[in-house]
Amino acid sequence: MQTSFSSAQLADPAMAASEAVIRKCVHCGFCTATCPTYVLLGDELDSPRGRIYLIKQMLETEADPAPEVVKHVDRCLSCLACMTTCPSGVNYMHLVDHARAYIEARYRRPWRERVIRALLAWTLPHPRRFRLALRLGRWVRHTAPLLARTAAFEPLAAMLSLVPARMPPKPAFAAARTSGAAGRVALLKGCAEPVLRPAFRAAAIRLLNRAGYGVLAVEGERCCGALAHHMGRETDSLAAARRNVDAWSREIVGEGLTAIVVTASGCGTTIKDYGFMLREDPAYAAKAARVSAMAKDISELLDTADLPLGNGRGLKVAYHAACSLQHGQKVTEAPKRLLERAGYHVSIPAEAHLCCGSAGTYNILQPKIAAALGARKVAHLERLQPDVIATGNVGCAVQIGLRASAPVVHVVELLDWATGGPAPASLSHLEPNRSA
Ligand code: SF4
Ligand code: SF4
Repeated sequence: MQTSFSSAQLADPAMAASEAVIRKCVHCGFCTATCPTYVLLGDELDSPRGRIYLIKQMLETEADPAPEVVKHVDRCLSCLACMTTCPSGVNYMHLVDHARAYIEARYRRPWRERVIRALLAWTLPHPRRFRLALRLGRWVRHTAPLLARTAAFEPLAAMLSLVPARMPPKPAFAAARTSGAAGRVALLKGCAEPVLRPAFRAAAIRLLNRAGYGVLAVEGERCCGALAHHMGRETDSLAAARRNVDAWSREIVGEGLTAIVVTASGCGTTIKDYGFMLREDPAYAAKAARVSAMAKDISELLDTADLPLGNGRGLKVAYHAACSLQHGQKVTEAPKRLLERAGYHVSIPAEAHLCCGSAGTYNILQPKIAAALGARKVAHLERLQPDVIATGNVGCAVQIGLRASAPVVHVVELLDWATGGPAPASLSHLEPNRSA
């Protein structure tokens, strides 16, 4: 695609990077067919190609973002299905990330949007605040249907409908072995996952230890910054990235690390991009690139690990591939292969490439599209009549769990169970006499 950026504009590394992305697009439109918002809404401006045009125009003219442009960029899930489809290698992720930061810096949103975004940024990345918010939210979650009747309160209603009726019980955490013959890994604690699904981490620790890895909770590590990044809050996301790069770098140069392991694929995609995010920071560029190169989704690491043979009990597992894993990280086969090796019967739903609508804070900020995608995803999954649905990202587990009748678990919970760990709580009826 031809561009018309001035040389002064191209002196800005962010502009130069976006210009290079835009130039790669040959506007063939292949990406439209796999874009969830285009599939749902049928509007070219809600397709990757349409958004690339809008972003190009906004950046070239350096205009303040028009509400129409903001609307279509906001509707993008950052699911990155377009990147999987694109034959020209257009890095849409970097382009839309730049557009979101540009919009955040130059566009004044209506006050209700500002409040809800500020609230999300203040609570979600901080497990204590998030836990407190969920506790408070339980008292008012019954008002969600009422609030949903007023368009302006839809995000608030969506937020309340995500509040669990009961806080998930804290699982028994066996102390992790911190050394092992296979190596020494840092396991990202994350922010939302340990609050919403603490059992995921407990299963991951047991599994990694069983595969011979020592598992560390690294001092000083916090939220990966993905939630802030997707809201265009660049200062916050870069601060989060630097803090984590510092924390992991201390371990890397200290006793050494084999890998930085992530159980939430949304976080993994962002950590693998730290090298790009911090490329212009001379104090961090090399360290961030090293951290990104060491980041691994847990399924990637386990795929080459020495795990005992599993007893999958013949269960039918419908595997939901999180977008951040299949499109963001291009990890497509490892989770299925691991589940099958563990003795489960794995099936894949129709439209597996389409997002479930979770997408970080998307199901709160764009509740109607998210709900439509959630219903569509669950219908495909349930058509497989599974005993259980497995995924690799906490956001997907919550989004699908709200609508599915089958239990929804993390892949690591099933692998842990099959190789000697306890049954996931939602499947414990299948093993009533066994305790964790
Ligand atoms: S598939 Fe790639 S090259 Fe074609 S329009 Fe989409 S982004 Fe552009
Ligand atoms: S990231 Fe997803 S929603 Fe956004 S343009 Fe690409 S395919 Fe469409």
